[in-house]
Amino acid sequence: MERRRESQDVRGQGGDVHLPRLAREVADTKARLVTGGLFYLFGWIVVALAGDVVGEHLLLGLAVGLAFLVLALLRVWPGPPAQDAPRPTLERWLDRQWAGVLATAALWGAVLSWTLADPHLDGARPAALLCTVAFATAFAHNFSLRLGRALVGVGLVFLPAPLLLPYTDAGLAVTVTVGVYAIYLALVLVRSHREYQQQLDLYDALRHQRDQYEHLSRIDPLTGLANRRHHGGTLEHLAREALRLRQPLSMLVMDLDHFKRVNDDYGHDAGDACLARFADRMREVFTQPGAHLARLGGEEFGVLLPGLDSEAAAAAAERMRASLEQRPLQLREGPLAITVSIGVASYRPGQDDGLGDLFRAADRAMYRAKSDGRNRVRVDRA
Ligand code: GH3
Ligand code: MG
Ligand code: MG
Repeated sequence: MERRRESQDVRGQGGDVHLPRLAREVADTKARLVTGGLFYLFGWIVVALAGDVVGEHLLLGLAVGLAFLVLALLRVWPGPPAQDAPRPTLERWLDRQWAGVLATAALWGAVLSWTLADPHLDGARPAALLCTVAFATAFAHNFSLRLGRALVGVGLVFLPAPLLLPYTDAGLAVTVTVGVYAIYLALVLVRSHREYQQQLDLYDALRHQRDQYEHLSRIDPLTGLANRRHHGGTLEHLAREALRLRQPLSMLVMDLDHFKRVNDDYGHDAGDACLARFADRMREVFTQPGAHLARLGGEEFGVLLPGLDSEAAAAAAERMRASLEQRPLQLREGPLAITVSIGVASYRPGQDDGLGDLFRAADRAMYRAKSDGRNRVRVDRA
């Protein structure tokens, strides 16, 4: 199998259909974390200036600003684990990020409460309320990935407003508007969460479909063996490995003898069953580690045997030939005596040309087996 496992970082993978569900949530969370933190810091600077916090509570003001800055930095550092990291690692990263996000929300809620409760800060109330509406709205839209946590976050940011406004001189109209907006936020959050889950479901379905198509594009449906295209890819891969490891590589081409007669005598369905049973027999005989079995087309099959030289490969081919001769294939219609002609070609380490021609050499040897009378193994010595 040459399916590469890519261990890229999840950064910037937000729209990638290949990502499993949790890795996608990590990537999406990461993308949404990046900018938010600095807005809270900016909001605090505006509120602090408008309420003259600098003059009255310099140290506390600086401490709050520093806390927002640290929380903003923790959103981008450390970055997320690799997308193929174990599930608990991904979960841990998400939990830590959520803890930071909720801490930011709680700190903003405290700032808002302070602004609403302290009469000295009433000059900062409009700015604080506007920032709160903006932050809570952004939160409801961006952090709906986890519903429960997001509800807590929006509540921490926003709820001090409807709870404390009645005790200020803001007036009934403002208080009621803010209260209604809280309901709107909850509805937006629930809908946004549902949409995000649907998006994940859609990506899952796409991924599943892609896997199915990939499978179909590699496997011959009648026999379950690799198809010709997959065989070609595997041959290239094994050839590279053979060169790198300086190990032999052998290939068999097998063609059923007088297969047309099976179709003619018993019908096409019996012919199909014969091909499927032949593939079963291949699986039974070629059990060498790394053996790769394929249906090359029609009644022609291929076997790749990495690590086997031509003697060992010819012996394996002979076992297949003899097995078929001695033990007929079992079809619904009864036992079917059929024989096979097999060509063998091998690459020896140090050989100059061998690999590029392996397929053709095995094919050539198979035709020699045919012309020499069928039901035999021939080894290409070229
Ligand atoms: P030889 O010993 O020379 O190989 O003779 P043969 O009859 O096996 O070879 P030939 O190439 O003349 O015929 C191959 C037959 O295989 C013809 C075709 O109808 C049949 N065939 C190819 N693919 C399938 C398939 O998927 N199912 C069935 N039932 N028959 C197939
Ligand atoms: Mg044939
Ligand atoms: Mg043929």
